[in-house]
Amino acid sequence: MTPIIGIDFDNTIVGYDELMYRIAVERGLIDGDGDRTKRAVRDRTRQLADGEIEWQKLQALVYGPLIREARLLDGADEFIRRCRDAGMAVFIVSHKTEYASCDETRTNLRTAAIEWMAAHRFFERDGLGLSRDAVFFESTRAAKIGRIKAVGCSHFIDDLEEVFLEASFPRDVQKILYAPVPPLVPASSATVVPSWRALCDVFFHKA
Ligand SMILES: [Mg+2]
Repeated sequence: MTPIIGIDFDNTIVGYDELMYRIAVERGLIDGDGDRTKRAVRDRTRQLADGEIEWQKLQALVYGPLIREARLLDGADEFIRRCRDAGMAVFIVSHKTEYASCDETRTNLRTAAIEWMAAHRFFERDGLGLSRDAVFFESTRAAKIGRIKAVGCSHFIDDLEEVFLEASFPRDVQKILYAPVPPLVPASSATVVPSWRALCDVFFHKA
């Protein structure tokens, strides 16, 4: 049976780490030194007096009005293209609300994400060749899992292990955890891949 591939969007296809770090420094939330990962930026921002609010605002900015500056994670496009070339259906299933509560610009986050995909040629025939109808945004994690079932995914790739740990996550869907910093002890039965290239090698049996 031909695999049906489902992929998460935020921090799986699109990466915000560098952007978050830069904006956090520009807004004076953190100094321009130290660890540049999203987790480090979050932890340092949260230590501020209004840290939680500032962290929410920072996320609203990078997922919304500034998303065009976020980057395509290395090899994600290549993986999707190879799946398409092999005749596999590819769906993007994202847990994403329409608006962020802390976003004063009232940017529609789903529209912003679609525009980012379009700018990276996701919907062009000679780009990644995805249909706009193959992209789903859901308002809750439960609805996201429902969608993964509804489109009949055989595999799902996500950066968030919590998704795979949900009791409602279907047992017959192969879990692939995209983890550039792999967990020391994986909490789920997911296959852990450190990069898209590694996943390509596993998936397409290339040495
Ligand atoms: Mg994610």
